[in-house]
Amino acid sequence: MIEERPTTARGGLKQLTFEDGLVLSAECKEVVAEAISTILDAIGQDPARDGIASTPLRVARMYDELLSGYMTDQVELLNDALFDVEYDEMVVVKDIDFYSMCEHHMLPFYGHASVGYLPNDKVIGLSKIPRLVDMFARRLQVQERMTQQIATFLEELIKPRGVAVVVEASHLCAAMRGVKKQRTRMVTSAMLGAFRDNPSTRGEFMMHIGASSDPLL
Ligand SMILES: [Zn+2]
Repeated sequence: MIEERPTTARGGLKQLTFEDGLVLSAECKEVVAEAISTILDAIGQDPARDGIASTPLRVARMYDELLSGYMTDQVELLNDALFDVEYDEMVVVKDIDFYSMCEHHMLPFYGHASVGYLPNDKVIGLSKIPRLVDMFARRLQVQERMTQQIATFLEELIKPRGVAVVVEASHLCAAMRGVKKQRTRMVTSAMLGAFRDNPSTRGEFMMHIGASSDPLL
């Protein structure tokens, strides 16, 4: 016997109150919540059931946080964080944890990013680089584009002699479905300027981050 389910859950959402978030307005959150409710209904779940009655609201709030990278204020992010220096050796910030969402399946991919650059006459405050990674991670992404965006942003910002970004991540869309290669990790890299042109510069960076192979060879 098939249980009778309500054909729409919208009635149930009426009691929920939504507030404007960083990315999603109250109205947008409500649209997201209604869509989640529709999905729950479509996959045979009673949207009014105790355990999931508030799930549409939770998911709407969660997206606001997971996608906050779209709204990161770049001026505020970089506030007073650029310094003129004489230092011209390689700067490397490695193993920056990040969590992102694959835009193909809307499932998480996560791992760590390592960033290096060769300053020209400017350096950026150390704490800003992880925040910059977050700004691009907290969006709907593909790993290749995220890697490139981090590199290009740094290049335009501090006009260094070169930028290197290597990202290693696990994708739940690959781990949980299809081939189920759960431990497979994807590595992407973006090498600009001296890191692209000069194998020994690239090699020095790869050594710093403990990588075993040159991404361009
Ligand atoms: Zn995916």
